[in-house]
Amino acid sequence: EQIANQIAAGEVVERPSSVVKELVENSIDAGATRIDVAIEEGGLGLIRITDNGSGMESDDCELAFSRHATSKISSSKDLFAIRTLGFRGEALPSIAAVSKLECITSSVDSGLGRKIVIHGGKVLEAGEVNAARGTEITVSELFYNTPARLKYMKTVQTELGHVSDYMYRLALAHPEISFTLSHNGNVLLQTLAGSDMLQAIAAIYGTAIGKQMIPVEANDLDYSIHGYISRTELTRSNRSGISLIINGRYVRNLALNAAILRGYHTLLPINRYPIVVLQITMDPTLVDVNVHPSKLEVRFSKENELMQFVETLIKSALGNQVL
Ligand code: ADP
Ligand code: MG
Repeated sequence: EQIANQIAAGEVVERPSSVVKELVENSIDAGATRIDVAIEEGGLGLIRITDNGSGMESDDCELAFSRHATSKISSSKDLFAIRTLGFRGEALPSIAAVSKLECITSSVDSGLGRKIVIHGGKVLEAGEVNAARGTEITVSELFYNTPARLKYMKTVQTELGHVSDYMYRLALAHPEISFTLSHNGNVLLQTLAGSDMLQAIAAIYGTAIGKQMIPVEANDLDYSIHGYISRTELTRSNRSGISLIINGRYVRNLALNAAILRGYHTLLPINRYPIVVLQITMDPTLVDVNVHPSKLEVRFSKENELMQFVETLIKSALGNQVL
């Protein structure tokens, strides 16, 4: 069982940012409106996620750390979704197999909760504690017992980059949730609950940039697009400012990136890129997310139509900017 968890961990837990992703997604699933992420040494030293979500009941807490325990699948029809989403019920045991993990959770407002401590998959401690409603999971010394994996970790700066990149995208996709990200005690991101996309953009890129973004909005039979694009004089040296949110999820798609850049065509200096945040809503049958569960790539079934739509939208928004 421990070996199985370590093998599964190899697939689910690639690096600190994958731990953050799995834990924060659980917090969102638990209905949290506030999620604080504190990491140290790029997440290799410590990752702590605190949420104000539903919490887990005592029995569920222990169960959550055994393999294939998920509260999210209850019928065999759902089981089919395992294939497409992957790793259902595997995140917590996988993470616990390759780190020193502590979970404190409470599903009630009485102040009573449950604490469980697991090192390398071994439960060292489980009992009652005082805790506020919600869940706090602390992951220390990731990969301490899998030196081969640890060797593949890049510098603190690179690992931090992956984590903050993910958190920025998440903040854009969920402006209604309050997120905090801190590294070695320094706050890198702070958004307020109940914000809108523009407020999230300002929290990430700065208020000055937030003020200069151009709103874009368009609908046709298949797609509904809402977002913000930067003026042509506001450029960056890389593509990391382009964020795509499809049906509420942050995704990556090279063709869409290219369509956006075609929309800017000659307006951008060479090797300069805009800040673009687009939220695209479409019939789920038009988008294939079944590429790799932990990866973010998607495929579109009417690709050309969507690309044309996006390029035209950007061009016309920038055309209005000139006026
Ligand atoms: P999955 O998310 O696929 O169900 P996980 O291993 O990520 O599998 O989580 C296992 C279970 O633990 C979840 O189904 C949920 O019931 C519970 N859980 C995990 N994190 C939280 C959290 N932050 N708040 C409440 N429940 C949680
Ligand atoms: Mg999960």
